[in-house]
Amino acid sequence: MFLAIILVGTVLSLSVGAVADRSQRDGMPFWAAGLALHTLAYILFSLRGQIPDFYSIVLANTLLSCALAAFTEGLYSFYQSRAPRKLIWFPVAFIFLNFLTLLDQINARIILGSLVFMLQCLLTLRFMWHKRRQTAGRGKYFLAAGITVMTALLSLRAAGAASGGAAAMLSLTQPSLMQTLTFLGALTSLLLLAIGFVLMSKERADELNQILATRDGLTGLANRRRLNNVLASEWARANRSDLSLGLIMIDIDQFKDYNDQYGHQAGDECLQSVALAIQSAAQRAGDLAARYGGEEFVLILPDADAGAAQRVAESLRKSIESLGLEHVRSPAGRVTASLGVAALTDGCFNNPEALLRAADAALYRAKHDGRNQVQVAPESFPPVTAGEKIIAKLVQLVWRPAYEGGNAHIDAQHRELFRDVNALLNAMLSGLETDKVAALVQAFIADVAQHFQDEEAIISDAGYPGSAAHAAQHRALIEKATTLADHFRAGTLSLGELFEYLAHDVVARHMLIADREFFPYLQPPS
Ligand code: GH3
Ligand code: MG
Ligand code: MG
Repeated sequence: MFLAIILVGTVLSLSVGAVADRSQRDGMPFWAAGLALHTLAYILFSLRGQIPDFYSIVLANTLLSCALAAFTEGLYSFYQSRAPRKLIWFPVAFIFLNFLTLLDQINARIILGSLVFMLQCLLTLRFMWHKRRQTAGRGKYFLAAGITVMTALLSLRAAGAASGGAAAMLSLTQPSLMQTLTFLGALTSLLLLAIGFVLMSKERADELNQILATRDGLTGLANRRRLNNVLASEWARANRSDLSLGLIMIDIDQFKDYNDQYGHQAGDECLQSVALAIQSAAQRAGDLAARYGGEEFVLILPDADAGAAQRVAESLRKSIESLGLEHVRSPAGRVTASLGVAALTDGCFNNPEALLRAADAALYRAKHDGRNQVQVAPESFPPVTAGEKIIAKLVQLVWRPAYEGGNAHIDAQHRELFRDVNALLNAMLSGLETDKVAALVQAFIADVAQHFQDEEAIISDAGYPGSAAHAAQHRALIEKATTLADHFRAGTLSLGELFEYLAHDVVARHMLIADREFFPYLQPPS
């Protein structure tokens, strides 16, 4: 048993020592030393009777205490906390001095020794408990289990000694149940401690690598790979929960000139300053600032619609400008950036790449229109409903004096019909029922028919040669409008399509284009 512990301890301490790297500051050297001291202590224990008691009892127990202190030191170093040196090393001195005086009192020695070792273990466990949230992975559980096994074993020995257990039962050199338990416990805790240490170190290194693999080295922002991952997951989330997703693409203006003027080193520093401004613009928890490449950056804004993203972009543009970085070759005299904004709203883009492309296109426009400005991709605004689409088109149908043809009656009627069509749309958008809308549409068609009749009479009187053909156009328009209105009433045609026809084909296109042909015949004699 002694041999097993010594052998395992030696192998473990050598292995941990071999992978320890002082530069990593993960406490590994302390842990290797702890394992070696632990092994050394058991070598001395095993020589009991063959070497003076001072070595096999006093020194061995002191070394064991030293091993525990080294483990604790290692942990503090792992968490980069300042170790309470006195608290950690005082037990070692205590054990040494007391064991000197208790050489021939085995029970007192075992009780005292076990209690001190237990306190050392508890000190370590307490510290680990405080830091439990700072470590990822399972290594810490191995370590805690190792220390717990050790504490349990020590309390068992202390209890045995306190209840007056025979020296033969407690002695480590004579075969007994307690001896077997002590050895097995020591072996188990040794293994758990070593595995725990190595795992914790490895998990820490993995965590560090994870961070390095996702960061841009120069600016500290997320790198392209992380950007792609986050964009993909935010994209999926936005689609799943019907939320919008804003994206801003940022490109420093005339950065090549900046490099040429101030040197590459200054260029790097400029990139870092701008990156800092971009990072500060990523204010909400899910926002991500990334370096897209070169002097281009991307800001992902979950839940932000085009308006919100535009506001963030505008404030970022101002904050970059107000960094006040001199750039004599730029019109502003200082470093500025152009920004392109795109937002996913109601599935207006098919994939994340389309969103990026739209932001890039908006950025291109910002560059093209003079730099140091924000442009928004038009697709980003929520798609309009059929009614809104027509309203949007009708906004351009506002009556203008240029539409007048010279005949007061016809002009007045045209103007009236423009107004009617707007009124009709407002009525429709106010959520009127189908029947009522249909009635309004019918009245409107009747007004148009009345106007057509009046117009035909006027142009025929004016001697317009195409009046018959024009009248035929009128009939066709009225006929189709009536048919569409019937379809709408029957539910086979959408309101949007009906209005599209009435507003565009009947009112706008016919009155602004076809009617122009007879305008020359209506001119009042000059
Ligand atoms: P524009 O206003 O149209 O964006 O002009 P620009 O000069 O900024 O654009 P262009 O893409 O022509 O130039 C980008 C420059 O950025 C060229 C490259 O030398 C510089 N650059 C890219 N990455 C780095 C970097 O990491 N450090 C430095 N210092 N410069 C970089
Ligand atoms: Mg560029
Ligand atoms: Mg640029």
